[in-house]
Amino acid sequence: MTDAKPKPFIAGNWKMNGLKASAGELVQVMAGYAPALRAKVDLAICPPATQLIPFALAALGSRVAIGAQDCHAKASGAHTGDLSAEMIADTGASHVIVGHSERRTDHAETDAIVRAKAEAAWRAGLVAILCIGETEAERRGGTTLSVVDTQLEGSVPDGASAANLVIAYEPVWAIGTGLVPSNEDIAEVHAHIRQRLVARFGAEGEGMRILYGGSVKPSNAGEILRIENVDGALVGGASLKAADFLGIAAAYA
Ligand code: PEP
Repeated sequence: MTDAKPKPFIAGNWKMNGLKASAGELVQVMAGYAPALRAKVDLAICPPATQLIPFALAALGSRVAIGAQDCHAKASGAHTGDLSAEMIADTGASHVIVGHSERRTDHAETDAIVRAKAEAAWRAGLVAILCIGETEAERRGGTTLSVVDTQLEGSVPDGASAANLVIAYEPVWAIGTGLVPSNEDIAEVHAHIRQRLVARFGAEGEGMRILYGGSVKPSNAGEILRIENVDGALVGGASLKAADFLGIAAAYA
């Protein structure tokens, strides 16, 4: 149980990008993650599955966490091409993204599937970075808050804590588009998510990190990360280059 303001967290989602040679970017992130910055913000990189083992090994002792981008709900079995949360934990990774909108869209992941994946993450001792967010049509239709409510209720399992769950609010229309909601809109949705988390999990909900995701870059990070109830960012494109990723984290320096 915690009622402290959460320590900010910036996670980089590399998506389907990165070959062996990209390890240099991780090395640069670790080099730039000086003790003064470490004291202010936690960092994670979520490379493609092929790079989990080398990245987890390289990051040992650096305090940069390594995460996967998805997991299967089951621990093992006949699921060709999938990775279980236990396998991810076995690489040395500590986090896993679940319910990213690209998985919800490309792989028809429902809230029930995302919930099962979050439970799998906890079973394996991983922190779940659970993504929610409205489409452009839902935003235009004025249903953003109810969409977020449905996703929170359907995707977040009982047993969530500040230590095992990070929520990433990512408006689908802002991902990879260069479009960002207004500060007021971000503040409204984050306050709403906080209120829902507290209503369901009590004081523990105050300590749960709520990240904003969608076209965050060094030039807009300062403004976005200052918004109340924004406890960090989930970053896609701008996490691929160490200088940009560190430039975003520098908003907390
Ligand atoms: C993401 O995919 O989670 C994301 C936020 O992407 P981008 O930063 O590129 O918009």
